[in-house]
Amino acid sequence: MDHETNLKDIVCGRLCRFYRPDKSEPESCHGLAFLIQWSKSYPDLIDLLEKTSRPEPCGYPYTRLLDRILCRHCPFFADGCDFVDARVTGPKVPCGGYLALVSLLHLNLIKEEDLLTAACYANSIN
Ligand code: SF4
Repeated sequence: MDHETNLKDIVCGRLCRFYRPDKSEPESCHGLAFLIQWSKSYPDLIDLLEKTSRPEPCGYPYTRLLDRILCRHCPFFADGCDFVDARVTGPKVPCGGYLALVSLLHLNLIKEEDLLTAACYANSIN
């Protein structure tokens, strides 16, 4: 399995509630794209991602950080993601990439500073 397929399998296949392997989307969310770019400069990231699991919905900590480094760079931020759409009420679930980062932070496998450094690299490419 190649590098990107492996990441997609972990991030989308295991963590994302919206992922449909039989449906190809013209655009993919920035959650996966961010992790693909970061893994190019940090190959151990895949091993860390293998340890993640879907966090329990608990208000999703790190919202300000992940909004800044992830969601605002996502093609679905303006339209297409209920999680960041203020007009949508009720329980909302983010994408698999977002959940992967929450899980990595929650398990202390990465620190917030690591994400800020990664964002300088990953978001400058996208
Ligand atoms: S939670 Fe929504 S806006 Fe944020 S990265 Fe995922 S799909 Fe994009």
